[in-house]
Amino acid sequence: MENQENIAKKWQICPECNGQGRVRQKIKRKKKLYYEKALEIYENTDQKGEKPIPPKSHLKICENCNASGIIPSENYPIPDTEHFPKIAIIGGGIGGVALAVACLHRGIPFTLYEKDESFNARMQGYGLTLQQANVAIKAFGIKKLKDGIVSTRHVVHNIEGKILGEWGKRKWLANNEKTATRRSNMHIARQSLRLELLQQLDEKNAVKWNHQLLDLKNLTDKTVELKFKINDEIKTTKADLVVGADGIRSTVRNFIIDEKLSPLRYLDCIVILGICPLKKNKTLKSELLDSETVFQTANGVERMYMMPYSSTEIMWQFSYPISEELALNLSREGSKALKNDVFERTKSWHSPISDIISGTPQENISGYPVYDRVVLNSDLFKKIGSVTLLGDAAHPMSPFKGQGANQALLDALSLAKIIYKNCKYKNWREDGIRTSVLNQFEKEMLERTAIKVKDSREAATILHSETVLIETNQPRGNILK
Ligand SMILES: Cc1cc2nc3c(=O)[nH]c(=O)nc-3n(C[C@H](O)[C@H](O)[C@H](O)COP(=O)(O)OP(=O)(O)OC[C@H]3O[C@@H](n4cnc5c(N)ncnc54)[C@H](O)[C@@H]3O)c2cc1C
Repeated sequence: MENQENIAKKWQICPECNGQGRVRQKIKRKKKLYYEKALEIYENTDQKGEKPIPPKSHLKICENCNASGIIPSENYPIPDTEHFPKIAIIGGGIGGVALAVACLHRGIPFTLYEKDESFNARMQGYGLTLQQANVAIKAFGIKKLKDGIVSTRHVVHNIEGKILGEWGKRKWLANNEKTATRRSNMHIARQSLRLELLQQLDEKNAVKWNHQLLDLKNLTDKTVELKFKINDEIKTTKADLVVGADGIRSTVRNFIIDEKLSPLRYLDCIVILGICPLKKNKTLKSELLDSETVFQTANGVERMYMMPYSSTEIMWQFSYPISEELALNLSREGSKALKNDVFERTKSWHSPISDIISGTPQENISGYPVYDRVVLNSDLFKKIGSVTLLGDAAHPMSPFKGQGANQALLDALSLAKIIYKNCKYKNWREDGIRTSVLNQFEKEMLERTAIKVKDSREAATILHSETVLIETNQPRGNILK
């Protein structure tokens, strides 16, 4: 099975767990008998005291699919339009593409609409750290990320280079600490992860590039009408369910939720990003550049974070508090101004920071003001018909806890699993997709992500404060907890 999994290119739902990755354990005979006896006594004593509660079966990992919910297959399942709703996914970022792949494996019919003309239509160069999603990724048919890099060491310095904190596998193993067995983080370029997912969709022609959603309308028959702009043409189509996976400035969200209820919230800082090639630059020599180390350096106001981007490149992320107006101006001025700004602010910081900034090609630099939104209440969704949101469209958060893409992947998996479970063997058309699927999905998603939005927001403050300089061997965001 393990070998088959490593070479598999196509997947289908695991029949043992119905794609859920978990199965109910049988209730032990002893427990059953105990309950039956207690119930008999209760009924024979005029129902005095508390009524015995039937024993619950616990969930356990499905051994047939190793908890992934999918198994290797010769072909993808044929889309089952009889049992499942027809889904329109708006946005081909990490969340939208992940949902499409999870639907593909389950035979759920879908079309993915992306406004960009092609995969590489614009620069989308930054790296992601996969935390929970590093485990969840196998549920998308990816056993091992081709370009993924595992970090084994995380170091925090002050600007003189003094180590203020250090953790990670390398330190735990050296000290024989139990934590050495803990889950590891995977670093991957956003585009590499997106590509690995998109490749599964290739032969299905399921991605409609150059389709910008302009309008959507819930119809009386509970379907949704969608209007797209393709070059100068307008195209209209219909779907049973629309999923807005169209990012922090989501068009779908604008149609269904009043912007005033949770407007974009500026987090008082800018983040500037760059990707620096390491091989060509022979002056760049430092144990921090071993492609397995993540390091950050801070002065209590400004913060530099560097992580492996690929085996030959490092990604840096520099951030500091600034007014929204100045952040927008600097961002508009472009990469030359951004590079100068970072260079001037860090030129006296410890090695190899300024060499890395100088060695970063201008075209690899971008910068944005940081925003999130107040978390939505799931009741708000109940009135919006056959439309839902996931990823940044639903719960944008600051990048300082590295959780946005992780949560978008978990959202996608959760939605596909709920659609499969609640539609395959039940008639969702009777109650409608909102009652059958969406209310449950949104409740789970919003409960899971609320704390991530909050922690990511707090991290935006902590990382640009004196707190970051406290000497402790743990992630800075955890210091106050
Ligand atoms: C600097 C930085 C570092 C980060 N680091 C991490 C990290 O380490 N770990 C982590 O988990 N997350 C990280 N994140 C967050 C993560 O990148 C996002 O949360 C994640 O990419 C969101 O995915 P998404 O699919 O919801 O949205 P997006 O990736 O924004 O995708 C939205 C897609 O929708 C398309 N679209 C928009 N409007 C329309 C329309 N009208 N019609 C059709 N298509 C449309 C867009 O073109 C885009 O392709 C980071 C973010 C930044 C900025």
